[in-house]
Amino acid sequence: MIIDIPEQFFYTAETYGKAFVEGNILYIEGRINFESLMYTITYSLKGYTECQYCGRELLVNRRTLDHMYPRCFGGVSIPNNLLPCCPSCNRTKSCLTYSQFVHLRRIQSKSKRDRVFNRMVERNNFKYRNGFILPKGWVTYYDITQALTQIRFDDVSQDKVVNEKIEMFYFKHKHYHKPIVVTANGWVFDGLHILYHAKKHGITNVPAIILDNVIHLPY
Ligand SMILES: [Zn+2]
Repeated sequence: MIIDIPEQFFYTAETYGKAFVEGNILYIEGRINFESLMYTITYSLKGYTECQYCGRELLVNRRTLDHMYPRCFGGVSIPNNLLPCCPSCNRTKSCLTYSQFVHLRRIQSKSKRDRVFNRMVERNNFKYRNGFILPKGWVTYYDITQALTQIRFDDVSQDKVVNEKIEMFYFKHKHYHKPIVVTANGWVFDGLHILYHAKKHGITNVPAIILDNVIHLPY
């Protein structure tokens, strides 16, 4: 999929990695934290002064980014899925999608709103048992054989809590909790723990979001 990027952009990370836009392509060089970069791009595209749900001013230390398709149902941190908003709206929205929340906000009566909210979450939970709550076309199945040869899992294997969580989720639902994120040239940008799990269990295809306008440059 094509992600939203600014026409001009330059970013450097503490890890000595950098990112920049040239000819509508986002280039990433070296190591960069996936979420930090995506958050920065989102703020530069969508602004950071106003809550996109209620219009309230966003104070410097009180701004958040909402996952329009919620994290708890497989929503990943890409600009197309992020919206600057105030902590209050983010909390109230909880595990709803953008359009569910917009619908909910129109309901005047609190008791009716609570009922509708519970029904929406219940429906999402039901749907999530079979996959992610993401737009069609975002996720494809990705053969990770090539990626596995490029990755060393030394650090990842140490994260026992995260690995255990993935193990349990996969055991229960028979699918991963979110897709991995891969650049157009096959560099895994997010989801190393999922790859580690897949490798351990001999799974060769995992759900992935391919960023068709993002290229990783070797160091
Ligand atoms: Zn708000």
